[in-house]
Amino acid sequence: DQEVVEYRKSLAIRVSGFDVPKPIKLFEDCGFSTALMGAITKHAYEKPTTIQCQALPVVLSGRDIIGIAKTGSGKTASFVLPMIVHIMDQPELDKGEGPIGVICAPTRELAHQIYLEAKKFAKPYGIRVAAVYGGVSKLDQFKELKAGCEIVVATPGRLIDLLKMKALTMFRATYLVLDEADRMFDLGFEPQIRSIVGQIRPDRQTLLFSATMPYKVERLAREILSDPIRVTVGEVG
Ligand code: ADP
Ligand code: MG
Repeated sequence: DQEVVEYRKSLAIRVSGFDVPKPIKLFEDCGFSTALMGAITKHAYEKPTTIQCQALPVVLSGRDIIGIAKTGSGKTASFVLPMIVHIMDQPELDKGEGPIGVICAPTRELAHQIYLEAKKFAKPYGIRVAAVYGGVSKLDQFKELKAGCEIVVATPGRLIDLLKMKALTMFRATYLVLDEADRMFDLGFEPQIRSIVGQIRPDRQTLLFSATMPYKVERLAREILSDPIRVTVGEVG
């Protein structure tokens, strides 16, 4: 309706796709549990950032998303908060093994930042988060994955190595995030990303975030996302 259109316009949010959920104004509009709301306030998040206003209701509704917004806009929480909800919604959390949420990021610094952000919100629920990336002991990461986790944050190359070593299975994985997709392509990770995606069940929820959408990223998005909703904030993309 007109009010939603005006609200999006006032935030410089553009959307495309069918049945796009309306943007929220407050975290309280997300239907988060008391525990999750507590974790959000504890980390001094008073209100959602612009991308979060539109991305949170889209992702919480279970839809695939292409999220385009510049660095520093709060994209991480847009996929981490719904991932916690997604994991808590799994009927038999303790059964099976391997991560439910899989996040790929281009560099170890970024993977580590996402790991820290995910830990903040996962901790109150006892959800285990593992981070795997190059430059540190593969054996330690192997052991960490073997011990079990619900979320893995990874750079594509190292994740492939550990999958080959059977450190983890993608059996339970139903929530896949490709963060900074354009940078992963710039770094030549397209084959690794395709391999990882191919190992995750097709009825997963897939989220792709990027600061820009070059042709190659657009093409991958078209192949691996199902009826995605595109959310663009500001002048990027
Ligand atoms: P992006 O991935 O878009 O570059 P980040 O997710 O790294 O941005 O967020 C940038 C910074 O903003 C981080 O320090 C993060 O903790 C903080 N942040 C995210 N969401 C909020 C919010 N709703 N309120 C306050 N700070 C936030
Ligand atoms: Mg980011």
